[in-house]
Amino acid sequence: TALEERSKEFENRANYDPLTRIYNRRRFLEILDRGINNARRLNQNLSIIFFDIDHFKKINDTYGHNAGDEVLKTLALLTSSTIRSSDVFARWGGEEFLILLESTTIENALHLAEKLRKVIMEYSFPDVKKVTCSFGVTAYHHDETGEVFISRADSALYHAKEGGRNRVVGKKKRLAETPV
Ligand code: GH3
Ligand code: MG
Ligand code: MG
Repeated sequence: TALEERSKEFENRANYDPLTRIYNRRRFLEILDRGINNARRLNQNLSIIFFDIDHFKKINDTYGHNAGDEVLKTLALLTSSTIRSSDVFARWGGEEFLILLESTTIENALHLAEKLRKVIMEYSFPDVKKVTCSFGVTAYHHDETGEVFISRADSALYHAKEGGRNRVVGKKKRLAETPV
């Protein structure tokens, strides 16, 4: 019915990013909460990959905003086909993405991030051709909030940018610790 259609559409808008069709930030945070509860309760590993397109502003400036949008869509498809269906993939903001990996150690998350980095680097995007991303990886530390968990991945990503981009940086536990 029309009512069912409308309620479906509302649910869709609440949970998914309209451009890439992957989870939005709001939905990601909900799933993260559940993931953290599970990790605590079952004493399981939980990791995050935070990544961001390198020099995306330049891509927009050179090829136009529509071409930029196409890069975002293609990147989302490429990533979805590289990760497992159980991995939680979301658009965090503009050209920033997050992947939540349940029952996954930081070593395995680093391995996946490196694989993804290569897949993206080697892919030929329509018009734009070469696109690279920088990655920050971290594992959940017992008792910390989701916010602290994400901010550590963000900090690792920052170091990946600072280190020259198109690279993966991992950060174990506390922010003061040196990257792995
Ligand atoms: P860095 O390598 O440091 O990440 O540089 P950057 O240029 O990727 O980062 P910056 O934050 O300077 O620019 C991000 C750009 O992303 C600016 C903004 O206009 C663009 N952007 C954000 N959302 C969208 C979108 O939905 N579509 C398009 N085409 N561009 C977007
Ligand atoms: Mg960027
Ligand atoms: Mg950014």
